[in-house]
Parts: sequence; C-alpha cells; structure tokens
Amino acid sequence: MAEYQTPTTGEGQESSFEQLKPYMNPTMAYYESSRCLFCFDAPCVKACPTGIDIPLFIRQIHTGNLDGAARTIYDSNYFGNICGKVCPTEVLCEGACVFNLQDVKPIEIGRLQSYATSRAIRQEKRLYQTGPANGHKVAVIGAGPASIACACELRLLGYEVDIFEAKSHPSGLAIYGCAPYKVTNQDVLEEVNYLQELFQFKVHYKHPIQTKAQITALEHDYAAILLGVGLGPTQALHLEGEELDNCIGATEFIEQVKLIPLTVEVGRRVIVIGGGNTAMDAASESARLGAEMVTVAYRRSKEEMRAYAFEYDLARSAGVMGLFNAAPVAVLGEEKVSGVRFVKTRNESGQLRHISGSEFEVACDMVILATGQAKQSAFLSLVDSLDKDGRGCIIVHPQTFQTSRPQYFAAGDAVNGGAEVVNAAAEGKLAARGIDKYISNSK
Ligand SMILES: Cc1cc2nc3c(=O)[nH]c(=O)nc-3n(C[C@H](O)[C@H](O)[C@H](O)COP(=O)(O)OP(=O)(O)OC[C@H]3O[C@@H](n4cnc5c(N)ncnc54)[C@H](O)[C@@H]3O)c2cc1C
Ligand code: SF4
Repeated sequence: MAEYQTPTTGEGQESSFEQLKPYMNPTMAYYESSRCLFCFDAPCVKACPTGIDIPLFIRQIHTGNLDGAARTIYDSNYFGNICGKVCPTEVLCEGACVFNLQDVKPIEIGRLQSYATSRAIRQEKRLYQTGPANGHKVAVIGAGPASIACACELRLLGYEVDIFEAKSHPSGLAIYGCAPYKVTNQDVLEEVNYLQELFQFKVHYKHPIQTKAQITALEHDYAAILLGVGLGPTQALHLEGEELDNCIGATEFIEQVKLIPLTVEVGRRVIVIGGGNTAMDAASESARLGAEMVTVAYRRSKEEMRAYAFEYDLARSAGVMGLFNAAPVAVLGEEKVSGVRFVKTRNESGQLRHISGSEFEVACDMVILATGQAKQSAFLSLVDSLDKDGRGCIIVHPQTFQTSRPQYFAAGDAVNGGAEVVNAAAEGKLAARGIDKYISNSK
C-alpha cells in the first residue's frame, strides 16, 4: 500500500515533501541555543568541512545578535542556509556534538544555522561590501555551489567575475539534485539571489562552454578560470534492456521531480538500482510521488551500502523496501520496462561473486538507475594538458586548487568525484584564494 498519494496540487506537493528541517521560530531558537555548552576546541567545528565557528554563532543567536550569527556563518560558508538544510549534519557537526556521548539529543546546529541565515536573506541584510576593483577578471565555468562560493570570495577581493552556466538556474545540483523534502527550490534561489545582490557577480545563463574556441577566448580575456562543472549524467550500466521506456537515470529523474513535480510520471512499482545516497533519494521521492511499491536493489549487503544509515532509514520511513545481494542482469520488457532479472550474490573475501543458477525476476513498471554520475570527460578534454586522476577527476593542489594548467583552478564534484554541497562551497572559497595568490604573484 502506498503511504503517499500522487500530489496533484501545490498543497499536496508540500505535504508529500514536507520539510525535514523546518525553520525554527524565535522561541525554539532561543531554547535550542540555550542548550549549547560552548565547548572549548568544539568537536562540531572540527567536523564541519567549512570550519564554521558553531559555538560562536549559537551564542550570538542566544544573545539576540542575529546579524552577527549570520555573519559568523557566511564568513566560513556562503551556502549557510542551504547547508543548514541539506548537509548530512547527522554525520558531521551534529554527529560530533558532545551531547551524543551522554545519549542526549545533539544540538540542532543545522536548523539554528538556517534560522540565522534565512532571516538575513529575508531582511536583505548588507553583511558584506565588495572589495575595491583590482582590475583583474576571472571566468567561472558552471554556477554550482563551488563556483558561486568562489565568485563571492573573489568579489570580496576586488575581482570582476563572469560565471558561464549551461542551464537556466544557478546553484547546480543544490537545485537540480537535493531532495525537495530537504530544501525547497525557493529557499535555494533566495539564498543565491541574496549572494548575487551582495557580491554582484555576473551569471550568463544558458551559456554552456563546449568548444575549443570558447575556451581559447576565455584564456585570452580572463586572468584565471575556475572549472566548477561538477559531474555529468548518470553512468550507464550497459545492461540488456537499459534503453527501454521507463528506465531512467536517477539524476535525470530527480531533476524532473525538482523542476516539474506535478507532471513527473512515476511508475506504480519502481525498482531503484544502487546503494548510495542518490539511490535513497530517488526511492524516497518515488514513494512520496505515490508509487505503490518501491524497492532499492543493491548488489552487496545492506551493511556495505555507501548511503548514510539515516538516508536508508528515511527511505524506509517513506515505505521503501530493500533488496540486497542482488545484482541486476537485465532490464526486462518489450518497449516499456516490465521487470528486472537479478542474480544473487555473495561476498567471498571481499570479492563479489554471482551465485550461478540463482537468477530471479522482479516485476516493475519503472527502473531508476542510481549507479553514479559520469565525469565531464568531453568538456575536460577541451582544456589542453589538464591532469586527471584514474577516476577522471581533475587533479588540483590541495591548498590552492590550482590545476596542472596554471591559469586553471577547479573545485567541487569535478575534483572530489562527488561529495556534498558543503565540500563544494569550502573548495570554491579556497580556490578563490588560490586564484588571488596566482594573479597577485604574476603581476
Ligand atoms: C541526486 C543528488 C542529491 C544530492 N543531495 C545532496 C544533499 O542532500 N546534501 C548535500 O550536501 N549534497 C547533496 N548532493 C551533492 C551536491 O549537490 C553536490 O556535491 C554539489 O552540488 C556539487 O557542487 P559543484 O558546484 O561542484 O557542482 P554542481 O552542483 O554539479 O554544479 C555544476 C554546474 O556547472 C554547470 N555546467 C556543467 N558543465 C558546464 C559547461 N560546460 N558550461 C557551463 N556550465 C556547465 C552545470 O549545469 C551546473 O549548474 C546531491 C547530489 C545529487 C546528484
Ligand atoms: S559540540 Fe555541541 S554542545 Fe559543544 S559547542 Fe558544539 S554544538 Fe555546542
């Protein structure tokens, strides 16, 4: 039995995708901030990839200095509100909070962070001034979190910044990927608009960089170039039947859910193949769109899934079922998907083995492949002598984020292979400082 009805109205959609971390009201924020112990050498700060001074902003909230709290957050992380909502806080700051040692609920750091930053956004607080113009221009390719964080920091340092974005919205997978029950598109766009108002970087939408001639022109016109292009479409599995109707990649499915939630078609019986966080999101979202039966099928055991345990629990709470040690062999159907043939697997000293003769079929009318995203190989090949690692990720200097081509810097998923918004935001900011060092030294 489906737990959710297919939403047909805006209200239905809001209820199916009810926010996991709704905004606190002032009383809630006052009470929650009063619980913080303001630890010395706070473990929550060490667990944050952007190193936000968490006890400080919590103290500022508690004493009513909300502008100060927002400033403390934005000084470390330009995606303060979005990260407060989408960060896996359970395994980062909140997971490190000392209260866990006493079996007491950790401080709700993410929600407090969103409380302070969303107020600054709503009230259009002028927390920053751009630096005096230094006469240098930087081009940024992609308008995801890595690029926008880089652009904000560069504007503080006085650079002129042009962002070239292939799509029609800013913030990359924060808008096209992050689950709608974690953050709304409105929240994402409001924070990015706020940053753009504050920092005045230019974004050229529907402007993909895809030819050698464009790259050569950028190299000529700009002192440095940031590659913030993220990852590509869902990686094909090359399974028999993968081309059938209603067999779709997870990132492509989720993008539809984010952009056209009321018209996206979800199957009645959905099989999601994969064991990462994207698989859990695709499964949860299918269930919340009213699918009657959603199964996450993973070729290894439940314990070996890469998804965070809380993401699996969240999918389970939406009615999703798990099928483990089952490797897909073929997608079945004539024109349209009608099922998946699996083979059972076992782990032999770390090696995944198919158990011969154990094939079985599960009927479904939709298959979602959550098998990872491909790298942006075609785009990256446009930049000569750009070093990549064995996975196809751009190799950068760990502190400056400079690539093997001195004029080029890179940050975010294209470098780390796919992490979180907070990692992209942290890397983008560091890359801006690397760019500043490079341009200052070349004068
Ligand atoms: C389904 C899904 C769910 C996720 N959920 C979460 C979550 O809950 N919490 C979390 O913290 N993280 C989540 N992530 C991860 C997070 O969204 C990414 O790590 C983060 O967005 C990476 O930022 P980025 O700037 O490196 O790249 P992206 O966000 O991918 O942005 C890259 C941008 O570059 C543009 N671009 C690409 N090529 C070109 C080109 N040639 N020319 C011009 N523009 C180009 C793209 O259109 C895009 O806008 C999720 C990811 C996915 C796929
Ligand atoms: S670890 Fe917990 S109690 Fe200590 S400073 Fe961080 S949020 Fe406050």
